[in-house]
Amino acid sequence: MTDNRIPLAGVIGSPVDHSRSPQLFTYWLHKLGIAGHYIPMDISQNDLPEVLKALPKMGFVGVNVTIPHKESVLKLADIVTDRASLIGAANTLIFRKDGRIHADNTDGYGFIANLRQNAPDWAPARGPAVVFGAGGAARAIIASLIEVGVPEIRLTNRTRQRAETLRAEFGARVSVHDWVQAGNILEDAATVVNTTSLGMTGKPEFRVPLDGLTPGTLVTDLVYTPLRTQFLQDAEAAGCITVDGLGMLLHQATPGFERWFGQRPDVTDDTRAAVLGS
Ligand code: NAP
Repeated sequence: MTDNRIPLAGVIGSPVDHSRSPQLFTYWLHKLGIAGHYIPMDISQNDLPEVLKALPKMGFVGVNVTIPHKESVLKLADIVTDRASLIGAANTLIFRKDGRIHADNTDGYGFIANLRQNAPDWAPARGPAVVFGAGGAARAIIASLIEVGVPEIRLTNRTRQRAETLRAEFGARVSVHDWVQAGNILEDAATVVNTTSLGMTGKPEFRVPLDGLTPGTLVTDLVYTPLRTQFLQDAEAAGCITVDGLGMLLHQATPGFERWFGQRPDVTDDTRAAVLGS
């Protein structure tokens, strides 16, 4: 293999046709004038080990990983970052020159970078955070909230057991609350996050009453289709500072892009427009 091949990256999952990463990476490659390509690849679970062995030989420098491979790639990687093991999933693989596969999870980074960019006055240590949902995405959110110094995380999920499991993993800073009483845990919260899929196009609406919100609270939704979910609209009407979930998707992609292509891309209004296709 020669070292002057055009670098290739991509996203592996099944399905992958919904992924916005190809638009995003192609936009950045063009904008930064980098010769490279980013390719969506629909890969079955059975083929995953073989595919991961073959990709570096084909000129791939790394891949993003989406459902259903985020957990299984951890077993196939040679190096797993602490945050990826803590979260139990990876979304970014780097194929190193020494042949080893490095697995990382950048969702938490993307989540915090989005809030810092769009709500610069947000002070996470100032008060408790409320997290709705205890699925795959919630793990990265809880880990990152702990990392930025949130003093207490009030976690609530329809299936209480999943929230209990996260409390057992993340420790005493996390408290678990009944989903039917989710509206009662908002008092004095500094940060409120929806990590459920409620409110997403095609899914049921988010119906937890938000009258307990204090004006000035930072409220964010991981759902970004639609961009302004009802949850965000209600929070805004209550005087809260709201940040949509698209920025998380864009920011989580920047560390992988930099490792693969050697330049750190910016997340700007133009980046958002490129991904939204406007
Ligand atoms: P997941 O593992 O399937 O978890 C789904 C969560 O939604 C669980 O907490 C689930 O509760 C809850 N839920 C689903 N239907 C519900 C209902 N009818 N009533 C109450 N709760 C319900 O999914 P995920 O990977 O965590 O993703 C969650 C959302 O975040 C998705 O919309 C995804 O697109 C979005 N996301 C966005 C980004 C971004 O970059 N912005 C990144 C990752 C994920 P149960 O445990 O009770 O089922």
